[in-house]
Amino acid sequence: MRIGLYGGTFDPVHLGHVHAALAVQEALQLDRVHMVLSARPGHREQPNTANVHRWEMLKLACDEHPTLSADDSEIQRLGFSYAIDTLRQFRANYPQGQLCWIMGMDSYLTLPTWHDWQRLVDFAHLIVVQRPGQQAAMDRELESFQQRFYADSLGTSRAGNIVFLSIPMLDISATQVRCLVQSGSSAKALLADGVWTYIDRNNLYHASLPHSLPNKEGII
Ligand code: ATP
Repeated sequence: MRIGLYGGTFDPVHLGHVHAALAVQEALQLDRVHMVLSARPGHREQPNTANVHRWEMLKLACDEHPTLSADDSEIQRLGFSYAIDTLRQFRANYPQGQLCWIMGMDSYLTLPTWHDWQRLVDFAHLIVVQRPGQQAAMDRELESFQQRFYADSLGTSRAGNIVFLSIPMLDISATQVRCLVQSGSSAKALLADGVWTYIDRNNLYHASLPHSLPNKEGII
């Protein structure tokens, strides 16, 4: 079994994410892609939008695609959302599966700031897609790490390779969506229909106040 995991703050999930997940799924013949909501990211600023909203939007975007599923394991776990812990959990559930952690190049370049990052390849392959317009320097440590694990393809191993895919991606970011909505413009074309309706109904991203009040269950 080949399983994709695609982590993100998804604030909000946009068509760039959906396209990346589906394109990698097709290119690598993945059985499915789990979209893992980073509830409390350990390596970047905390998102302003409550988990409950980001989670609902992620579910709406995934509902339209039978091979994508929204994954709440990082919401359920306490503390920071570390990819390594999520991968440990998936490895326990799929001892023989090929696990593929999908990420954009911008995210890959921040890898050395991730908790226990050098061990990620013990649990999964890293699949890196380009992001239009993104060019940044690579850390020395990451460069030598990449040289050790770089591969042309997944092969048959369960984990351990870094594979770069040159599939065209969409030039969309969540920052762009938030800015458009905040400035009163429509971001409809950048989002799944259900996500756009959800943002509109819940008045997300309009006000300057953060949408981060805890919900009834406290799963913020
Ligand atoms: P923000 O603008 O808030 O930083 P984002 O659009 O980069 O958000 P994230 O949730 O931070 O979205 O990203 C989750 C993952 O998706 C990361 O690995 C990121 O590189 C990747 N990603 C985001 N947008 C795209 C895109 N348009 N094409 C391919 N990958 C993307």
